[in-house]
Amino acid sequence: MERPHLLHMITPDANVSPFDVNMAYDAGFDAVIPYTHVAVKDVRGLVQDMIFSRSVNDVKRTALFICGRDASLALDMLDKARDAMVPPFEISCFPDPAGSFTTAAAMVACVEKALRDKKKRELKGCTVAVFGATGVVGGNVPLALGSALAARLLGGDRVAVVFFGDGAVQSGIFAESVNLATLWRLPVILVCENNGFAEFTPRSAHTTVERVSDVVAPYGLDRETVDGNDVLAVREAFARFLASARAGGGRRGVLAGSVDGPRGGGPVPRRPPGGRVQLPLRRSRDPADSHAAGERPA
Ligand SMILES: [Mg+2]
Repeated sequence: MERPHLLHMITPDANVSPFDVNMAYDAGFDAVIPYTHVAVKDVRGLVQDMIFSRSVNDVKRTALFICGRDASLALDMLDKARDAMVPPFEISCFPDPAGSFTTAAAMVACVEKALRDKKKRELKGCTVAVFGATGVVGGNVPLALGSALAARLLGGDRVAVVFFGDGAVQSGIFAESVNLATLWRLPVILVCENNGFAEFTPRSAHTTVERVSDVVAPYGLDRETVDGNDVLAVREAFARFLASARAGGGRRGVLAGSVDGPRGGGPVPRRPPGGRVQLPLRRSRDPADSHAAGERPA
């Protein structure tokens, strides 16, 4: 009789992610078993209970998924799990804290495909620079400063460009980053894709500043608000910023675009107490497609 496919999921947290549980069942596992509050020191015992309870053939239908939200901790757990194997009693182990490893793998696959399709090349033999990123709102802004500082130290005309939403602008780390970028005169361009909402929160509920580009006014940065639905306007504005940043002299700036929301980052509807904001749906299709069809934004 063929034994079931089992996925043991361990996490240092209070629960495993329902997202991961659903994915595991959808991937075809017959059973998914969570273990919570697992410490690194517990991993060896758990793994050996997983491998020694099944025959050499059946143990192949057993797998370990390492969850949590801490990549370093997940890798420490992976090391302990590998050490606990006694060949041929071995199981597949896969760490993916907060989806970080699968996201990174998907990114590599996309790059590989783009290289193959557009450049007829492979990753093999390429020099690859990997910049860390984070899903935390506003978290990528200071990371761009690191890239900009590296560019400065390496010389040349490299410029760091970071994209973020209008919600990120209200985070403390945004103010800290703008201050440091200005102080150190870093070659960085901050691009806000302003759709008038931070997740589901309208702009009027989290700031009184109408234009994102005005937030950086005291720092004396170059700044501009353009209609994000106008492909040519965005291209021309960005070209100005890029040329300025490449020319050196510490000029860098903030380009704030309005994509789906009120044009030009202009006034947004105020939310009535306890009520809802109804924003007009302005865009029915991708601005790049509209541009290709010869339409100008309304
Ligand atoms: Mg937004």
